[in-house]
Amino acid sequence: MADNEGKSEPTDPKDKGINADAPSEVEEDWSSFSNAGFGSTDYDLWEDLATHEEPGNDTESDDEDAEFDDFPAEQLDTHLQEIPTAPAAEGLKHLVRLGTCDHCLGRVGGKKTYGQTLLESGRDVRSLVIGRDANMSEAHDDSTICPFCEELFAETELLADLIGDELRPYEFSRLQIGGQFPKVQAEAEDDLRKRYGAAGSLPLKSCLTDEIAKVLVEKLPAVKLVNEKPQILALVDMLTLGVQIEVRSHYIYGRYRKLERGIPQTRWPCRACKGRGCERCNNTGKQYETSVQDLIGEPILPLFSGDDHAFHGMGREDIDVRCMGRGRPFVIEIKNPHRRTLAASELEEKINQDSAGRIEVEAMRDSTRSEVVRIKDTPAEKSYRLRFKLLPQGTLPVPEPRPARGRKKRRRGRGRKETNAESETPTTAPIEEETQTAAVDEKSLSILKKAELVAMCEEKNLAKTGTKPILIERLLNYHQELQLDKPENVSPPLPDLDTIIATLDGLAGTVLEQRTPTRVAHRRADKVRKRSVLEVTGSSAEMVDDEIFAEVTLRCESGTYVKETIHGDGGRTTPSVAGLLSVDCEVVWLDVADIHAD
Ligand SMILES: [Zn+2]
Ligand SMILES: [Zn+2]
Repeated sequence: MADNEGKSEPTDPKDKGINADAPSEVEEDWSSFSNAGFGSTDYDLWEDLATHEEPGNDTESDDEDAEFDDFPAEQLDTHLQEIPTAPAAEGLKHLVRLGTCDHCLGRVGGKKTYGQTLLESGRDVRSLVIGRDANMSEAHDDSTICPFCEELFAETELLADLIGDELRPYEFSRLQIGGQFPKVQAEAEDDLRKRYGAAGSLPLKSCLTDEIAKVLVEKLPAVKLVNEKPQILALVDMLTLGVQIEVRSHYIYGRYRKLERGIPQTRWPCRACKGRGCERCNNTGKQYETSVQDLIGEPILPLFSGDDHAFHGMGREDIDVRCMGRGRPFVIEIKNPHRRTLAASELEEKINQDSAGRIEVEAMRDSTRSEVVRIKDTPAEKSYRLRFKLLPQGTLPVPEPRPARGRKKRRRGRGRKETNAESETPTTAPIEEETQTAAVDEKSLSILKKAELVAMCEEKNLAKTGTKPILIERLLNYHQELQLDKPENVSPPLPDLDTIIATLDGLAGTVLEQRTPTRVAHRRADKVRKRSVLEVTGSSAEMVDDEIFAEVTLRCESGTYVKETIHGDGGRTTPSVAGLLSVDCEVVWLDVADIHAD
């Protein structure tokens, strides 16, 4: 299936943007933005949020030990020791005397029995204490403030209402509630609880959020309260009695085919304005009109009533590479979604319709944040369909690593071109390319003295008679012919079509040794990677207007530099088609034919 899709491609090698060996600046920038995650994801931010979202209970109990250790020993030895902790009778009485509320009596009194609520247990404790000492009945009235909770338990209804109001615009089924206390208050409560409360009394924060949750569950019967992976996290600020909600992204898995070249995978900011918007980008802030991310995300964003989207692909193809076959697995993340339950078929239809043949999606379904990690980390085998042109060896310049970003661009060094020229002029020592170029230019010849021109003619076994203009013309003609003749003069004939096909088929099972390609050497460590060509299918070769083209589908291990497998990257990849056939190869186009994952 993948093989057939590649063959329908137009074969004009002059198509722009297909020079596989010299990726444009565009391509390079692209990947650096991809790494920087421009506008594409808040994935790293999530890591931070994840620590926030942990219920405070754990950290609180950790702190407990630490604080207890810090507690001054002298104080324990003096007046504090006179009052025993609950549930001793004197301890309970002291709690009541302090003005402790019923909820907190239940929480720190140590009398709570199985199935009892805090409130029920607290009321029992109070009756018990009052039964022994009627004076205690006045200890907690409307003017008293519970020293443990500062009357927060009385606000649970209100807080549940506040949360309910904030949640109203959203569709969700998993809710987590968290509470934030001022540190001072939390420490004071801890302190008090350890002095007078029963051993193992529950911390204030978790009890309070439990109470709020209990009220909420009655209001929102369809919602499940969870301690992890919520769709919405409601944070109660216990100091201001404010509620803040954090709406977690909605994730959708799918596979996309990119049917058109020239589309980047994710959004890519305008190079002139870095995404702020300028004349050059028509105030879009984008370098390219669209991207796979936008083609998928934009049509469905309104359906989810979300704010924005981020895109996570299982790898990516270059901007000029199509992606065929079953397509590339991806997860699209919808930020701040107000809706979450949409039929996958509805989403697919909308995307495919709007993209008008540029991309196609399928296999969409609900996903999770953890699947993003899986998608990013899966090393998938891929099949590539390539078309390339075979040229006599020495036709193409030897690739040279591009200078690292920020450094001054190096001038091109000596290439094959010069070597050819040398073979034509065996009497001379190696000439620097600059000299050579200067010597064949009419203007630079004309400023030479006649004697120098004569010497040059002599050097090249040309007639040295005539006037200065005649000598110049002779030299110019000579170099022009040299240029025209060069490939035929120095290169072995191209292999026949059967040999090409046999060589391509012979790649199956080959282990490639690939030194970091010149096109990425400026941003990747230079090392040799071993990668296998697992399967070769659909190899063909043809003559088109006296030029030889070949096509092949290579199934490769994850991380194979596939263009280099064809053109050899100046000997950095071995074996290569170019090396095996002693030719130069120019990749005309490349498609991802399939991604063998999921
Ligand atoms: Zn209280
Ligand atoms: Zn711009």
